[in-house]
Amino acid sequence: MNQNEKNARAGGATRRTLLAAAPLAGAAAALGLPPGLRLAHARASETLTIGDITVRVVSDGTLALPVSFTLPETASDDLDALYRENGQEPPREFTNQTNVVLIETGERRVLVDAGSGPNFQATAGKLTDALYEIDVDPQSVTDVVFTHGHADHLWGAVDDFEEGPRFANARHVMGEAEHAYWSDPTTPDTAPDWLKGLALGAARVIETLGGALETAGADAELAPGVRYVATPGHSPGHMSVLVESGGAQLMIGGDALTNALISFQKPDWPLGTDLDREQAIATRLALLDRLATDEIGLVGFHLPFPGIGRVERRGGAFIYASG
Ligand SMILES: [Zn+2]
Repeated sequence: MNQNEKNARAGGATRRTLLAAAPLAGAAAALGLPPGLRLAHARASETLTIGDITVRVVSDGTLALPVSFTLPETASDDLDALYRENGQEPPREFTNQTNVVLIETGERRVLVDAGSGPNFQATAGKLTDALYEIDVDPQSVTDVVFTHGHADHLWGAVDDFEEGPRFANARHVMGEAEHAYWSDPTTPDTAPDWLKGLALGAARVIETLGGALETAGADAELAPGVRYVATPGHSPGHMSVLVESGGAQLMIGGDALTNALISFQKPDWPLGTDLDREQAIATRLALLDRLATDEIGLVGFHLPFPGIGRVERRGGAFIYASG
């Protein structure tokens, strides 16, 4: 058996394991996660129903991230071993999806994160087109809720000329601690080098949004059945968004869980993209435990499109089951 066949076989075993795993009793059925679902990237959106609430995932495009930047403290042998154990070729660089969520609850259309707009990476900034593809007029969005202030989540909130909000009729909400960090004029100086450009951009977007931007704290109800959950570490005030209706729950996890293998199977690996690496690890462990214990569905912003799945325990860690 050559290496490719071994990988294929290992992948098959992993896949069978996932398929054989018992579906979550309440949440998964309510979420309508078909077992073994694999969605083509060409598909414009994926739709879930959480009680009375509809959740749609659309893509803003993809982003490339170097391995050395993402995993500054991990030996490449350890990364290779993790991927091979899962029947996958180790990555030469990470290609991250950008899964933006649209929540329809009552009369409200709540967008969770706004993508990166035209000025970040050429492969991203596709959100407006993606919304039109599913017949959603950006002007019909009533709320834009940010998980955090990084470019790929925030910069798309302003129009292509950076003159005003892209979602002109929406109330915009950012976590209090997150807003305090990015609107602090000393942040571009105190931030690590990789974050300085993002800090300047975030400050500019916050200024452009002006009075259309509000702040909210942890547990604040943002819309019926939609509230913030504090998940700090990736950024100082990073928030996840919990959707709850009819006894089912879905966590929109932003960048708390970013990689389908590493974030779940090696949640204690420090990530170069996390501002406070220790806090981010503690947040990941607590979030994984909660999602597995309470059988809460997950949407991960950078997980393979549409980033919908569930968390299961395996050994001392977890796995991501995408359907
Ligand atoms: Zn991100």
